[in-house]
Amino acid sequence: MIIENDLKLDFKDVLIRPKRSTLESRNDVDIERTFRFVHSGLEWTGFPLIAANMDVVGTMAVARALSRFGALTALHKHYPAESLIPFFRDEDTANVFYSLGTTEADYDKFQAVKAKAPVGKLCLDVANGYTERFVRVIGRLRQENPDMVIMAGNVVTGDMTEALVLAGADIIKVGIGPGSVCTTRKMTGVGYPQLSAIIECADAAHGLKGQVCGDGGCTVPGDISKAYGAGSDFVMLGGMLAGHDECEGDIRYEERGGQKVPVAMTFYGMSSDTAMHKYAGGVASYRASEGKTVEVPYRGPIDGTMQEIMGGVRSMMTYIGATKLKEVSKRTTFVRVGAQLNTVFG
Ligand code: 5GP
Repeated sequence: MIIENDLKLDFKDVLIRPKRSTLESRNDVDIERTFRFVHSGLEWTGFPLIAANMDVVGTMAVARALSRFGALTALHKHYPAESLIPFFRDEDTANVFYSLGTTEADYDKFQAVKAKAPVGKLCLDVANGYTERFVRVIGRLRQENPDMVIMAGNVVTGDMTEALVLAGADIIKVGIGPGSVCTTRKMTGVGYPQLSAIIECADAAHGLKGQVCGDGGCTVPGDISKAYGAGSDFVMLGGMLAGHDECEGDIRYEERGGQKVPVAMTFYGMSSDTAMHKYAGGVASYRASEGKTVEVPYRGPIDGTMQEIMGGVRSMMTYIGATKLKEVSKRTTFVRVGAQLNTVFG
């Protein structure tokens, strides 16, 4: 029995220490980054935040809205080819990932879309990125699509990050179990604290000129800042972007002052009972559900939330004296904390 005794940390275990600087205002900072991807050789510039490829948030409406902020969206994989073809053919999809799993049906649909519309970015998503089969699938996709940006995951350790970059992925998605509607840790006991996972995977990927995307576990804008501070090139959000007009979820209304007003929206994990019933006709007998279904408060247009997120990142940069988002990880010193919020007023 081997027990790793090094302490591994989550977002909640640290704060970012302020640093002296000459920066005066949030307007002096630049939250865009430019990346050149290691395999595809393509360049991308924007705010490196990605809406998760989940039913509720990985929608075309979210993609259009986030693109206006220079941010990205990984569309969920359940759109039919008939909707994906006109979307990729007729709209600006420089900030959009086409998502697929590893089944033959996923592959066939991707071939059909690709034959009729230009797809520039791929998100290859599995719950467990540690299988040899997954490595082979990445290799095949890379061989067939040399010019596409490929993001693949999920993993949480440096060794597997390296394996996936070497197999052909440009961006490695990091996170097993931290998600807001994820029950993997409860159901399987498997996982890795997300801040440490990002630090370790970023180090491994950067050594090979790859990038990482911290996926899951951000609950407040400060967590996104911590992810960038830990070395995450991109950050993926599910729950923080749920509950908006651009999402696809059932809305619950309440009578208030004689009027019906929206108060909540459903949000669920992609391997929850809800998702499995919707797409697979039930939970297969050999697997347990590893996601939950929740209601999140209805929050109106997504623009307000994006402005809050971008404002939070900008403000963090002034606290540590980083003019460019690229400098954030170099200027970050984390301090370990026992508690980080004053909860006296709830
Ligand atoms: P959040 O930002 O909500 O904390 O995390 C979003 C991430 O949770 C997604 O990008 C995905 O990696 C993960 N996720 C989504 N649905 C499920 C699920 O049903 N089970 C598990 N284990 N993870 C999920």
